[in-house]
Amino acid sequence: MKIYLNGAMVEEQEARISVFDHGLLYGDGVFEGIRAYHGRVFRLEEHIARLYQSAKAIDLRIPVSPEDMTGTVVATCRANALRDGYIRLVVTRGVGTLGLNPYLCTEPQVIVIAGAIQLYPKDLYEKGLALVTVGTLRNHAEAVNPRIKSLNYLNNVLAKIEAINAGVMECILLNAQGYVAEASGDNVFVVRGDALLTPPAWCGALAGITREVVMELGAGQGLRVREEVLSRYDLYTADEVFLTGTAAEIIGAVQIDRRTIGDGTPGPVTRRLSAAFSDLTRQSGTPIA
Ligand code: PMP
Repeated sequence: MKIYLNGAMVEEQEARISVFDHGLLYGDGVFEGIRAYHGRVFRLEEHIARLYQSAKAIDLRIPVSPEDMTGTVVATCRANALRDGYIRLVVTRGVGTLGLNPYLCTEPQVIVIAGAIQLYPKDLYEKGLALVTVGTLRNHAEAVNPRIKSLNYLNNVLAKIEAINAGVMECILLNAQGYVAEASGDNVFVVRGDALLTPPAWCGALAGITREVVMELGAGQGLRVREEVLSRYDLYTADEVFLTGTAAEIIGAVQIDRRTIGDGTPGPVTRRLSAAFSDLTRQSGTPIA
């Protein structure tokens, strides 16, 4: 596999980062997870824009322009003959001292990996996921703001550990007020009648790009789409619940805290949106070839 590293396409074995990189020492950096479908990169512009917003929020100056970064993502796909896959774009703070001071790190490291991902087993897209709500809270907005897609995912990892130890693969994190924020690496949606609801970003959700696409598709299907503050009550009493994310795509949640959601299978709205999403990935995106 060829990796893009700071201006060069290098073999995987040569793609190395210093042990003094603050991305490693402190999780100091930002990233994006992007998908390619049918030879096109899906919603690339939106991912690039969010990367630069995340970087700006942590006062990290990415050493290349968004236009060049866009070209680099496409070039890395091309170098690996990738048509369908998952791209990981990482910008670390770079090499520094053993102290925290990010301003002593003068060369941010830019990495693009064009590979593959399978977040959940295929059969779960038919059967639906079991989730639990966990004790680990979503970061407070004035701590590491959840809108920043930073390399520091320890809070999400702690939530994931709780889920796995509870015997399920995924979880819902609540915010400090007890309202639903999101899953460990996905956004959450509730279907109630003809309403399609998702927590606003200020409740502790990443402004997911799949979330945005699903909101557009839902509106196109005549659903009343809106952001709403949701509690566990809304999850337990929902007609349908599903998660969205670049890696996860759209996956139904059929059990939460051992309670059955809807009739215990991914519902019609989840299925219709999944079909529309799949169609969209066939029709749009930045060409790789
Ligand atoms: N929330 C979190 C915490 C995430 O890391 C992600 C991305 N994996 C998402 C939501 C979904 O965002 P997107 O649809 O842009 O991938």
